[in-house]
Amino acid sequence: MSPTTPYENFRSQLRSAMAHIEIDDGLFDRLSHPERVLETNLTIERDDGTLDQFKAYRSQFNGDRGPYKGGIRYHPDIDRDEVIALSGWMTYKCAIVDIPFGGGKGGIELDPADYSTAELERLTRAFATELRPLVGEDRDVPAPDVNTGPREMNWFKDTYETLENTTAPGVVTGKAIESGGSAGRVAATGRSTVLAAREAFSHLGRSLADATVAVQGYGNAGWIAARLLDERGATVVAVSDSDGAVVDRDGLDPVDVKRHKDETGSVVNYPGADTRTNEDLLTLDVDLLIPAGLENAIDADLAGDVAADVVSEAANGPTTPAADDVLIENDVFVVPDILANAGGVVVSYYEWVQNRQRVSWSESRVNEALETHVVDAFDELTATMAEYDLDDPRTAAYIVALERVATAAEQRGW
Ligand code: NAD
Repeated sequence: MSPTTPYENFRSQLRSAMAHIEIDDGLFDRLSHPERVLETNLTIERDDGTLDQFKAYRSQFNGDRGPYKGGIRYHPDIDRDEVIALSGWMTYKCAIVDIPFGGGKGGIELDPADYSTAELERLTRAFATELRPLVGEDRDVPAPDVNTGPREMNWFKDTYETLENTTAPGVVTGKAIESGGSAGRVAATGRSTVLAAREAFSHLGRSLADATVAVQGYGNAGWIAARLLDERGATVVAVSDSDGAVVDRDGLDPVDVKRHKDETGSVVNYPGADTRTNEDLLTLDVDLLIPAGLENAIDADLAGDVAADVVSEAANGPTTPAADDVLIENDVFVVPDILANAGGVVVSYYEWVQNRQRVSWSESRVNEALETHVVDAFDELTATMAEYDLDDPRTAAYIVALERVATAAEQRGW
């Protein structure tokens, strides 16, 4: 069987929810396709004076509940299908946590490691210039994703504000604090992944503090999740990045592993730990598995070997629908990405609110509000599982989210 694409996976997840609720076929068609996809070629001057061209995308999937919202990814394997899928997931993520945004996503096809800071700045500014007519505080609000962060958001905001001759800090979120960013934004995705895992353990009558954990992917989402889990008493026994995994059954120190990765470029060869493959990490005998890398990490072949009792998805789309079937069969509780990693967009929403009101919230206010959002969404998910007699948390999450988006679409009229 050929592997399914992220967009096929997304549509399959949405169809599973549709099977349980009354929704018109025509409306479903509308809610499972993007409203608009920009595909463009960006040209910049390299430091050596030559010209280079890059493929870039922005998908505005659905705007029925508010401005399109979603990150910008820099990655060599990005393509149109992936960007559309990611923008679709954003739509239903904003709906399950009930924030007034639609879904969007964008990206540029490149490996940023191959370019200088000055070249990345020119490229980000070229993308912001190209996107200027499509974005705006009330139109489409980008944010960081894989290989982008506050630096890229600051460049994007500056380009937009310069071209528009205005101040519009809410045009992007995930900015540096000094440039209008929010306290708590950098840690928000890892934080919601951990809060969602805590709720899942408590739903199963267990405690996260006693759990052993493996984290796949040690970037923004993965490393923060590992740090917060360690602070809550859980034992992080394995972490990985694209170069491989390190395992120590006695527990790793997430802060020290991060220091090692910053110094050497990888978690691999962390002193005192065994080096293993990513596949070993995903099938390790742990209580909690956090996929925090890219899509399709857990496919049907691997799913049968997943030994964790709970999976909390920090990454977008890490589990294929065929893998989901196997995990459900094996009683693995999967907190779906659209809920588990929603912290990033929830705190982006707080950042946007603060920007619009020209106020700033304390980190404790942000974290308390985020916890309420995640716990409320988790409670709705479990209530929906009970109402529909489902053993699949993902389908329950999509039922709640799809009903919200469908209702908003219907209320707007055609
Ligand atoms: P990042 O660029 O900071 O880190 C990505 C990490 O994944 C790196 O450590 C990389 O080495 C690792 N990785 C990549 N491919 C891998 C593979 N095949 N096996 C193991 N590790 C691999 O990116 P991030 O912001 O942490 O994003 C990670 C995931 O979380 C993505 O799916 C992203 O869409 C999702 N996410 C991020 C945010 C956010 O606010 N940053 C919000 C929601 C969802």
